[in-house]
Amino acid sequence: MHKFEHKEKPQKPKCRNHSDQEATYRCDNCGKPYCKRCVKGQGYGRVFCAECEVLVADFLDLI
Ligand SMILES: [Zn+2]
Ligand SMILES: [Zn+2]
Repeated sequence: MHKFEHKEKPQKPKCRNHSDQEATYRCDNCGKPYCKRCVKGQGYGRVFCAECEVLVADFLDLI
């Protein structure tokens, strides 16, 4: 039985801004991976990257 195959482990996504940080979050708008230091807008019950947070904040203000 060859239980141990030489397979590449799937790479965990890294933060778009910090290549050494594991991306534990994903922007709910653009879907790009970011670390927790980079996500914004958690007060809306969703997480957004800095770019999308600006757009979403404007959008939510209009509601
Ligand atoms: Zn985004
Ligand atoms: Zn980051």
